[in-house]
Amino acid sequence: MAYNNSVEVFRDNEYPMMKGNVYLDHAGTTVYSKTLVEQFSAKMVANLYGNPHSGSYPAKLSGHMVDAVREEALQFLGADPEHFELVFTANTTAAIKLVAESFRDLALASSVAKTFWYGYHKDSHTSLVGVREYAEGSSHCFSSDEEVENWLQGRESPKTLSNASGIPGLFAYPGQSNMTGRRLPFSWTRQLRQSFHQDTYSLLDAAALATTAQLDFSDPEFAPDFTVVAFYKIFGFPDLGALIVRKQSSYILSWRKYFGGGTVDMLTVLHEPTVKRKDATIHDGLEDGTLPFHSIMALGCAISDHKRLYGSMKTVSQHTSFLVQRLYVGLSKLSYSNGRPLCAIYHDSVPGKNPYSDPTTQGATIAFSVMTADGTYVEHSQVEKLASEKGIYLRSGGLCNPGGIASSLDIKPWQFKRAWAAGCNCGNSTPFRGKPIGVVRASLGAMSTMGDVDLFLYFLFETFVAEPTKNSPESLDTNGFQTSMEVKG
Ligand SMILES: *Cc1c(COP(=O)(O)O)cnc(C)c1O
Repeated sequence: MAYNNSVEVFRDNEYPMMKGNVYLDHAGTTVYSKTLVEQFSAKMVANLYGNPHSGSYPAKLSGHMVDAVREEALQFLGADPEHFELVFTANTTAAIKLVAESFRDLALASSVAKTFWYGYHKDSHTSLVGVREYAEGSSHCFSSDEEVENWLQGRESPKTLSNASGIPGLFAYPGQSNMTGRRLPFSWTRQLRQSFHQDTYSLLDAAALATTAQLDFSDPEFAPDFTVVAFYKIFGFPDLGALIVRKQSSYILSWRKYFGGGTVDMLTVLHEPTVKRKDATIHDGLEDGTLPFHSIMALGCAISDHKRLYGSMKTVSQHTSFLVQRLYVGLSKLSYSNGRPLCAIYHDSVPGKNPYSDPTTQGATIAFSVMTADGTYVEHSQVEKLASEKGIYLRSGGLCNPGGIASSLDIKPWQFKRAWAAGCNCGNSTPFRGKPIGVVRASLGAMSTMGDVDLFLYFLFETFVAEPTKNSPESLDTNGFQTSMEVKG
């Protein structure tokens, strides 16, 4: 509560761009503070920064700044620089690609392994799914947590589940589903390292998780080999991502063949091609070209301002967890006078248990569909559009999460294909024969408030549930909803 009040106090000042809006797409990107941008701008104006690859004084200034921010970023994420290294990337997807390319290139570097085995969880974002195309068919999509557990415990190993032929493997999953906000077991990376799948490495996509949770690298022995994040999802700015590498597993990244820009020490091109890669540090060989050093400087400002405003990720996590419960309870209570619920909320949970009450298994994101009083699905893009007209910003559609959509909505591949053939795609998908093939997503961030949640609930009530003439906000808490109102075209 104290947190909510303190955000209420500084929000108009620190986030003037949010005034008059209800921004509920923090899983897309969160919002940057005014102080962060002002500090960034002041530093840009006060100093002369050169290209860190040059040798001048301004270049050295940039170089030292980059080193310092790299360390601060690791510390912010809870990773000890002694055991972990951070590689700057353009975004999460670029960080995933660095890992994927390294595995793929082993085939070029070694005469033994032809390719690698790739396993990924069905809740994966498309950025993880795409890695399978490098694995030349030797990949497997785990369709449930149970299947992962069985595999980790060695109880199940059909052909597609294993890398039995001695080729290296990569197992990837999201720390939090970008669609439903469900948090997947962190213990899998530990179990994997203790399992007999010794040639299989872990890749944790923490892009959604890191927005409202403290990551856990406390035991380097059991941390993921590779973790990917995007800083704009934590701080709103800069547009930058990172790969956090467990140093013990970093040799895998040396399999990557490409080099360019700053990643080589010596190189010949005429008469014979020889190359000596930079290998003083792990990031040296991976950050192709000029670093986004101005953005890295902004990251330093972002970290310090986040600390000033919120203290720690732990408090952000508690606050957003409190808010998402409020949102969940509010959404579940909204119903029509005939008793039908307004929303179908998508989550994996034990019946009867509030899935949003436990921050270890649920982040501050909710995926749902809106229905009319007779149970017909309202097109998700329509909900997004109506909300947007009221200054409420949601995200709707397939959310780059094909496995999550298919399992939550129980869509079979043939139904997807039919729907595609009928002109549906990720952003635009009308219900297919009455069945939705996308969802509406509301996601919260560090600077979200109870006011945001309540305004959104009231919008749903007013737009879909209340009779046009009767729309008093009090009735939200009283269950006194009247008959349905048709959705406006
Ligand atoms: C946002 C997101 C991505 C993609 O991130 P980019 O920074 O756009 O590459 C991947 N995975 C998850 C879980 C995400 O939330």
